[in-house]
Amino acid sequence: MVNEFSQPELIDALCALTRIKRVSGGEHECVEWFKREFTKHGLPVKHSGRNLLTWRGRGKKVLLLNTHTDTVPANKSWTLDPWNPVRKDGRVYGLGANDAGGCLVGMFHALLSAKFDEDKFTLMFAPTCDEEIAGEGFEKFVHEIPPFDACVTGEPTNCEIGIAERGMFKLDMLTTGKSAHGSRPWQGVNSIYLAARDILTIEQLHENFPERDDVLGRTSLAVTIMNGGSARNVIPGESRWVIDGRTIPQLDNETTIARIEAAMKHSRVEIKKARFGVWKRSPQDEVIKCACAAAPDSKIVAFQGVSDAWWNKTAQGLILGPGLSEQSHAADEWIEESQVVRGYRIYKGIAERFLSK
Ligand SMILES: [Zn+2]
Repeated sequence: MVNEFSQPELIDALCALTRIKRVSGGEHECVEWFKREFTKHGLPVKHSGRNLLTWRGRGKKVLLLNTHTDTVPANKSWTLDPWNPVRKDGRVYGLGANDAGGCLVGMFHALLSAKFDEDKFTLMFAPTCDEEIAGEGFEKFVHEIPPFDACVTGEPTNCEIGIAERGMFKLDMLTTGKSAHGSRPWQGVNSIYLAARDILTIEQLHENFPERDDVLGRTSLAVTIMNGGSARNVIPGESRWVIDGRTIPQLDNETTIARIEAAMKHSRVEIKKARFGVWKRSPQDEVIKCACAAAPDSKIVAFQGVSDAWWNKTAQGLILGPGLSEQSHAADEWIEESQVVRGYRIYKGIAERFLSK
C-alpha cells in the first residue's frame, strides 16, 4: 500500500480526470475510468446508474467520502479548451478541475493511502453524478449505500470546514391585472405596477428579518427575474417574476414562504420549489473535531451554496474540499496544485483520526 502520494501523482490524476467530458447526465466515461482505477488497485466496486461506491475494510465504524463527478457545461466565455488541462503558474486549468476535480482526486487517494485497522473500521468512497442538476446522484444513491457514521462531502471550500449550509427555495410569482388598449390605461389594471409594489414589499421583508444564526447569518430574499407585458400598446394583464430565497434554521423555508404569501397584496405563488432545507451540524461532533485536528489552519465556516451534504440526514457530516468556490462554474476554471495536495492530506488525516477509536 502507498503511504503518501506525491504532488506529481495527484496532479497527473487530476489532469487525466479533466480530460474526460463529464457534464451532468454524461458522466459514463468518468464512471468507467473510476471503475478501472478501483479494479487496478484491487478494490471492490458497487455500481448503480452513474454512481459508484468502493471501500476498504470490514469494520463496524464507517466513514464515507462523497463528491460529485459531474460538471456544469462550459460557458461561452472560456478562452481555453475546457477538456485539455493546462498547467501554468502552479495551477491546473480545466472544466471541473476545481469543482470538484480536486475533491475527487483527494478523496480517492486518501482512500488508497489512509492507515487504519481494516478489521475494526471501514472507509468508503462514493463518486456520484448529477450534483449540478436535480437527478440520479447522491440523493438517490445514499439509500443504496450501507449505513455510515459520518460523511465528508467534497466541494471547494478552500479547505475550510463547512458545518452548515442555508436552505434554498424558488418561488414563481404571478401578478394578475386586467389588459386594455395602451391608449386607455384607465380601462385596465396594469399588472406591472401591481407587481412592482409587491416586489418592493419583498425588499422590505428582506431588510427587516430580525432572525440571525451564528454560523449561517441571515435569511435572504432576492427578486431575480421579472417578466411582464406583450406589446408597447397593451396594458399588461399578467406579470411573472421569481424570488430566490436562502434560509437559516431560525427562519426556514416554510416560515419564510408563509411570510411572503401573507405580505403579497396583488400576487400569488404559482410554482414553489424548496428542495434543499437548512443543514447544520454541531462543532462538537466527532468528525468535525477530527477535521479541526487534521486541518489546524482551517476555520469552521458555513458553505455558501447548497450541496449533496443535504441528503445525509442522519449521520455526522461536514463539507470540505480544495479549491475556491468562486472558481466553480467560472470560465477558465482553475485550482492551485498546492490546494489539491492540501485537500488530499486533510481527507487522509480526517479518515485516520475518525477510524482510530
Ligand atoms: Zn460542486
